[in-house]
Amino acid sequence: MAELIKTDVVIVGAGIIGLAIAFRLAADGREVVVIDPNEPGSGASYGNAGTFAPYACAPVGNPDVLRNLPNLLVNPDSPLAVRLAGLPALIPWLFRFLWQSTPARARRNAYALADLLKDAMPTWRELAEQARLSDLLRYEGCLYLYRGKMPRDGDEWGARLRNELGVRQERLTSEEVARLEPALPPTAGGIFFPDAAHTIDPAALTSRLAAAATARGASFQRAYVDRLEPQDGGRIRLMCRDRTIEAHTVVLAAGAWSRSLAEQGGEDIPLDTERGYHIEFAMDTCPIKRPVSPVDLGFYVTPMAGRLRVAGTVELGGLSAPLNPKQIALLERGVRKLFPDLGPVQSHWLGFRPSLPDSLPVIGPSRRYPNLIHAFGHGHLGMTLAGATSRIVASLIERRNEALNLDAFRPDRFA
Ligand SMILES: Cc1cc2nc3c(=O)[nH]c(=O)nc-3n(C[C@H](O)[C@H](O)[C@H](O)COP(=O)(O)OP(=O)(O)OC[C@H]3O[C@@H](n4cnc5c(N)ncnc54)[C@H](O)[C@@H]3O)c2cc1C
Repeated sequence: MAELIKTDVVIVGAGIIGLAIAFRLAADGREVVVIDPNEPGSGASYGNAGTFAPYACAPVGNPDVLRNLPNLLVNPDSPLAVRLAGLPALIPWLFRFLWQSTPARARRNAYALADLLKDAMPTWRELAEQARLSDLLRYEGCLYLYRGKMPRDGDEWGARLRNELGVRQERLTSEEVARLEPALPPTAGGIFFPDAAHTIDPAALTSRLAAAATARGASFQRAYVDRLEPQDGGRIRLMCRDRTIEAHTVVLAAGAWSRSLAEQGGEDIPLDTERGYHIEFAMDTCPIKRPVSPVDLGFYVTPMAGRLRVAGTVELGGLSAPLNPKQIALLERGVRKLFPDLGPVQSHWLGFRPSLPDSLPVIGPSRRYPNLIHAFGHGHLGMTLAGATSRIVASLIERRNEALNLDAFRPDRFA
């Protein structure tokens, strides 16, 4: 018979979101079990670009993307690709995405995202301090690069919106870019985001956060949750192959894999994935000090411990298709335009961003089972928003009387 484990709170998924929540709840004195079949931090949280991007309030679906979509889809060097085999399954998500990209909806989504992002850095600083991770963070800002033509102030929808929302951004001339990052080739200019930060090692960040949660009393179970079964009296059972875990509260933080478990809890959420890639070059000293994103190429180049990581692009095509070598080649061609003398690619990786059509995460309780809390769908911003999300989830669980307006993130907002 399967072993039965009973606890107070179970967190499904040991990515950056689940781990940040686990640490916070364990620090609050809660009995916490985290369940994941894999090592903590081995999903999307492993290979991302490592940026903390509180400026990134423009949703992926926005009027600029809508206008450029034909070019983005036919250009072989485009940072957006769709796997044709996955297209039929993607169509409902794509329609929703296009609908959310219209000006009024994109603007509403941006305001909601900005509301979350304003807490991103304060909550991360606090988390990093409490979990003793501060040595893995760098507060050097982040730089957008324009290689061809620098857009005029206000030409881009995203830049206008950031101005409207009071995001700190500094337009730089080509000389100012060169002073900030002397190893870069000549550019037309850039935008500097002084409030951004980055980590020099996303994998170390998650493994040390897991260790810090364990030190506060959280425990980890290596298992895959097949089924979720709400019980009479409000408790919830999670059924795994060889064990059952029963808890008073379940937090669903399984990233891009959360959809079917949410469905078993009564919510039909249009979660899909934006596949993304990275390549790395081994080096002792990186040529740049901060993450740099050549806007036309759609990736970030981030200086990390012992390596330069190039991460990004969006490939729509689901969770099961294999790695696409064309995407790896695209990243390599792109980064060699900035740094032609780089050595050979040392490693590559494919990861799955958990993405909703409106670029907003799902945070909040299920309508049918109030003890089932959703915390997934952070898309391009899961690293950035882990601190803020963990604060919200902890205050929902502790029923702290904070004035939280979570309407924009409700699980049933697409119903
Ligand atoms: C190329 C790329 C670059 C990125 N760059 C950035 C960036 O610079 N800044 C930023 O903020 N964000 C970035 N992101 C996004 C960020 O990485 C994700 O939003 C974030 O990692 C999501 O975290 P998560 O904890 O929700 O999911 P994950 O890290 O994917 O973790 C989910 C976990 O759930 C587990 N799981 C799944 N199903 C089950 C189940 N049934 N039972 C138990 N466990 C289960 C999985 O094993 C996994 O460990 C990037 C993403 C990619 C792909």
